[in-house]
Amino acid sequence: MSGVNEIRSTFLDYFRKNGHEVVPSSPLVPRNDPTLMFVNAGMVQFKNVFTGLETRNYSRASTAQKCVRAGGKHNDLDNVGYTARHHTFFEMLGNFSFGDYFKENAIEFAWNLITKEFGIDREKLLVTVYHTDDEAAGFWKKIAGLPEQKIIRIATSDNFWAMGDTGPCGPCSEIFYDHGEGIPGGPPGSPDEDGDRFIEIWNLVFMQFEQVTKEERIALPRPSIDTGMGLERIAAVLQGKHDNYDIDLFQALIRASEEATGVKAEGKNRASHRVIADHLRASSFLIADGVLPSNEGRGYVLRRIMRRAMRHAQLLGAAEPLMWRLVPALVREMGQAYPELVRGQPLITETLKLEETRFRKTLARGLTLLSDATDTMSSGDRLDGETAFKLYDTYGFPLDLTQDALRQRGISVDTDGFNTAMERQKAEARANWAGSGEAATEAVWFSVKDKVGATEFLGYDTEQAEGVV
Ligand code: ATP
Ligand code: MG
Ligand code: MG
Ligand code: MG
Repeated sequence: MSGVNEIRSTFLDYFRKNGHEVVPSSPLVPRNDPTLMFVNAGMVQFKNVFTGLETRNYSRASTAQKCVRAGGKHNDLDNVGYTARHHTFFEMLGNFSFGDYFKENAIEFAWNLITKEFGIDREKLLVTVYHTDDEAAGFWKKIAGLPEQKIIRIATSDNFWAMGDTGPCGPCSEIFYDHGEGIPGGPPGSPDEDGDRFIEIWNLVFMQFEQVTKEERIALPRPSIDTGMGLERIAAVLQGKHDNYDIDLFQALIRASEEATGVKAEGKNRASHRVIADHLRASSFLIADGVLPSNEGRGYVLRRIMRRAMRHAQLLGAAEPLMWRLVPALVREMGQAYPELVRGQPLITETLKLEETRFRKTLARGLTLLSDATDTMSSGDRLDGETAFKLYDTYGFPLDLTQDALRQRGISVDTDGFNTAMERQKAEARANWAGSGEAATEAVWFSVKDKVGATEFLGYDTEQAEGVV
């Protein structure tokens, strides 16, 4: 059985052998893309290379990229703990061609890696192509020998990728692994495709067009390749597991969480341990890349992730802050591949400990309020927006934490009512604002920053945290 660390190296070595430059993961906070909350795919650090704004001294690259999908266009937060295949933080393995090789080679590289190097049973594999992409279908037949019924044509945007309203775009082809009949879910394109039987392991994007304006799309003279494979998903396949949370890495984290709480990951407690393990990774990697919990922007996404995990720790009966105690297990599992975790360990530990210590002061009282308010409710009922807002405002419950807390009972939250209450409070705050308060805080910040430098003030060198070696 190969562990996650070995699988990552096998992937990168394979592409290195095939003429690719192995490039380190970029930090989770995008450097030059203010529209993007977090890096959510391997291609992000190469955007300008694909558009031609930037050139590199290589035309083939391969990476294991840290990704977070917990906000913005891709948000898998609500899936975590409930599907077998989603994380908020995961690693995307990828190979890229910048106007070098194209469709045929991309399919060949992918097929050879998974069937020869990794030795996956070809009978268990099937692929999708964009409905008009006869070329890709033809290569799958020629290279992989797949029969027609295992090359599924999809007409939706799932199989057509675009960088934005304009820019590079093109059809994609996804590779699926069939985990077997016992698991609910249908093949891609079928009505129950969202089940977990057929799991997408690798997405190949064929960037062959450029969208010039809304109406005009031209063929690129030198098309490119962008691919992404979820490391945790391929590890599950290679370790004979159906579920990402059963791979070596997650088992180690879940074991740490079981030991620290004295509660087994069984029955109703299973999801909590999974959420904790997942959110531990997301929080720690975000902190290592310089994000700190706050009430807005990226920092608020981090805070939401942390607090969700903390509610699950409370559910498991943890009497003391839990998350910081799991950091050593994470560093043991992933510190070698990501030295920023080792460098950031003290900051990660302190940040988790402080946030949980503070949140625990209001968490229990908030939960009491919540259970009083929903005492007589049953599945299909809805919690009023005022109460959800009070939980937010007085007890520090992000809206999604309240929703997550009620989810198992089938109770929803009136989000419109919540937003109305929030707007009202903001209007009141504006009306009462006497000036100077905010500016004074800013002035303090800048004067400290001037004295010691921003990074030092944060107690952490973000440049160093990038894992760029
Ligand atoms: P899905 O349809 O399963 O949500 P996706 O099509 O959104 O996946 P892509 O954007 O194509 O995913 O990302 C490339 C690869 O990254 C996927 O094939 C999958 O292996 C992996 N991946 C995507 N999202 C996640 C996630 N939340 N957790 C773990 N792996 C993921
Ligand atoms: Mg998805
Ligand atoms: Mg998909
Ligand atoms: Mg995909």
